[in-house]
Amino acid sequence: MQHHIEWDNTFFKEVQANFERVGRQMHLDENILLRLRVPEKALMVSIPFRRDNGKVEVVTGYRVQHNDTLGPYKGGLRYNPHVNMGEVSALAMMMTWKSAIVGLPLGGAKGGVAIDPHPLSRQELQRVTRRFTIEILNFIGPDSDIPAPDMGTNEQVMAWIMDTYSQQKGHAIPGVVTGKPIDIGGSLGRREAPGRGVVYAIISAAEKIKMKLDSKIRVAIQGYGQVGGAAAKKMEKIGCKVIAVSDHTCALYNPNGLKFDSLSAYLAQNKVLKGYPEGECITNEELLEIDCDVLIPAAIERVIHKDNAKKLKCRILAEGANGPTTNEADQIIRERGDIFVIPDILANAGGVVVSYFEWVQDLQNLFWKEKEINHRLWEMMSDAFEKVYLTAQKEKVDMRTAALMTAIRKVSTAMLTRGLYP
Ligand code: GLU
Repeated sequence: MQHHIEWDNTFFKEVQANFERVGRQMHLDENILLRLRVPEKALMVSIPFRRDNGKVEVVTGYRVQHNDTLGPYKGGLRYNPHVNMGEVSALAMMMTWKSAIVGLPLGGAKGGVAIDPHPLSRQELQRVTRRFTIEILNFIGPDSDIPAPDMGTNEQVMAWIMDTYSQQKGHAIPGVVTGKPIDIGGSLGRREAPGRGVVYAIISAAEKIKMKLDSKIRVAIQGYGQVGGAAAKKMEKIGCKVIAVSDHTCALYNPNGLKFDSLSAYLAQNKVLKGYPEGECITNEELLEIDCDVLIPAAIERVIHKDNAKKLKCRILAEGANGPTTNEADQIIRERGDIFVIPDILANAGGVVVSYFEWVQDLQNLFWKEKEINHRLWEMMSDAFEKVYLTAQKEKVDMRTAALMTAIRKVSTAMLTRGLYP
């Protein structure tokens, strides 16, 4: 099979291999398999921007569009020094599956800029973002490709993209991005949606394995950003005990439970978890191997690998991050058979579900109440969970394979119906 150097990246190759494994297992049409294993379009741009000291720097930006059979491309933008074409392509493919599983009329895309946003001033961040938007201007749009936040980006970054795009078009176009601030067309509930969705998926999984979600349930969460923070809050709210959380500075462990409000107050002052007094500081690696009932990796990809997969002590693994488990680790977990895995493309779909709600509200200029949004999110997440679970039972496969089967079936059926142009 033809080899592309751009995608010669471990993460992408694994996501691709996983797709091919499941595609073959379900006897996917050979032509569809060839088309879906690579993105439809990939754009790479150079972004010159001025630092506050007057010097110009040039960084690389990407937008990869994997598939738009079911609707406009959709997916986040990541600002991280390690962003590259392979990573973004892997994540774009995962977005196609994610949207399909929850039944959204959207395709899959992902983008990013290879830059560490943390040392940048607000003005520098704004300049990079606006220039990046200009470079990808003709690639995105409310009818064609709708970015959203991901690692290293936030509501403010989305606001600058929306403004730059709108300035170019001559009128306000809020539907070009999701995850915006509420006052410019963002949706209620979007900020907490990825974490909330993870917890909804855990509720569904717990019901299947007859695990009562009460104060005896110990939860460990790696990553305390958009996904991990909101998941911690919601797990505490439903009565479970969050015994460990982490960020890049430290992993906190307290067998008696860490309190969300107290952590938030500490973070508001100190920005990082390190130094928080009511917990022991352990490493991020140790956190993953903690004796717990629910483990939520909600930080970066490939943290569960062949060396620690055997050591996991959780009953439910709910993947809040994209791609936290390598294929080798997945194989080990499958063979172990004692962990209920809620795969990333199902577990963290809450973000894109409420992004979809935001986009619909923007297009209709009609906004919904938070209660309605959360209720619809619950319906879509639990329906998707049920669909994947039934596939797992029927095909006698694990949840990850079942999730991929569900998504691939949906996309491939639509592709076959539309046919190949010309
Ligand atoms: N970045 C999020 C994800 O990986 C959200 C994408 C979106 O809302 O479009 O699912």
